[in-house]
Amino acid sequence: MQRIVLASRPEGAPAHVNFRLEDTPLPEPGDGEVLVRVHYLSLDPYMRGRMDDAKSYAKPVEVGQTMEGGAVGEVIASNSDLFKPGEFAFGMFGWASHGVLPAKALQKLSPDLAPISTALGVLGMPGLTAWHGLTSIGKPQHGETLVVAAATGPVGSMVGQLAKARGLRAVGIAGGPEKCRLAVETFGFDACLDHRAHPDAASLREALAAECPDGIDIYFENVGGKVLESVLPLMNVGGRIPLCGMIAWYSGADLGDRNLLPAAWRAILVKRLLVQGFIIFDAYHRLPDFLEEVAPKVASGEVSYLEDITEGLENAPDAFMAMLKGGNTGKTVVKLV
Ligand code: NDP
Repeated sequence: MQRIVLASRPEGAPAHVNFRLEDTPLPEPGDGEVLVRVHYLSLDPYMRGRMDDAKSYAKPVEVGQTMEGGAVGEVIASNSDLFKPGEFAFGMFGWASHGVLPAKALQKLSPDLAPISTALGVLGMPGLTAWHGLTSIGKPQHGETLVVAAATGPVGSMVGQLAKARGLRAVGIAGGPEKCRLAVETFGFDACLDHRAHPDAASLREALAAECPDGIDIYFENVGGKVLESVLPLMNVGGRIPLCGMIAWYSGADLGDRNLLPAAWRAILVKRLLVQGFIIFDAYHRLPDFLEEVAPKVASGEVSYLEDITEGLENAPDAFMAMLKGGNTGKTVVKLV
C-alpha cells in the first residue's frame, strides 16, 4: 500500500518538501476491525492546521506520520459483524491507499443512494458544517441578507443554497469571474463578488454595500482577511457571525503594521453582534438530521454540488496546496481507484 506522510513542518504556505510518498506493507485487521481500500480521499483546509506543532482543538500530525484525512472506500476484509467485504464506508483513513479501523468508527454508505464521494462533501463533513453553523448560530430569518466567501466550495455553496431556501438574500464572494458565475448560475446566489478584483478591503466593501442595500444580517465566516475587514462595518445591529474558518490566515497573516483588532472589537460592540466559533466535530450527533433534510434534495437535484477531482494519491500534495490558494472549484477530492 502507499501513504503520504508529513515529511517536515511548513513555514508559511506548505511546499512539496513537507510531504513524502511511502510504500508500506498492507495492514492486517484485528478483532472488530476492517480493512478498506480507499476510493476517494478528502482534502480539506483544516489539514493545514494539523501540519503545525501548535496547540489546537486536535493533535498535530507528527513528522513521519500519515497525513490525517477522511476517505471513502470498499471493505476488502472484515473481522466485524458490522461490515461485509464489498460494502462501502467512510472513515479517517488518512492520505493512504488502504486503512484499518475499528468497524464502530466507520459510517456505512449506500452507493445506490448517492455516489460515495458525496460523503466527503455535500453529504459529509463540509455540508454538515454549513448546515449546523447556519441553523444553530446564524439563525436565518426570511428576508435577511447573508454573505459568505469561498462561495463555490463545499461549505460556502451549501450555506448559500440553504439561505436561499429559507428566503434570504444570499451574496457570495469568490476568487475569479468563473467561480462567481458558478455561484450565481449553479448555486443560486443573488450576486457574487470577485475578491481578487478588489485590491483592498475598502474597494470590496463598496461593491458589497451596493449588493447588500439593507446591510448584512449574517456573515458566515470562512476566510478572515480582506473579506472580514470589508464585511464588519456593513453588519446590521443584532447580526450573527458563525465563525467557521479563516483560511486567508492559515499559513500566517501579513498585516504590516496594521492592527485590525480595535476596529473589529468596536464593530462587535456597537452592532451588538453575536460571533461564535464552532468546530464541527462537536456537532456530529446532528448528522442524521442533516442527512434527513439535505440527502433527498441532493438526490432530486434541488441541492447542487461540484467536485474537483484529482487522480492518484501521489498528486494529493499538489491538489492540497492548490486548494489552500483557491485553485479548486468545488469539493477537493483525490480519486485512488
Ligand atoms: P473550499 O473548498 O472552499 O476551499 C478553500 C477556499 O478558500 C478556496 O477555494 C478559496 O476560494 C478560498 N480562499 C483561500 N484563500 C483565500 C483568501 N485569502 N481570501 C478569500 N478566500 C480565500 O473549502 P471548504 O468549503 O472545505 O472550507 C471553507 C472554510 O470552512 C475553511 O476556512 C475551512 O477551514 C472551514 N471549515 C471549518 C470547519 C469547522 O468545523 N469549523 C469544518 C469544515 C470547514 P476562492 O477562490 O473562491 O476565494
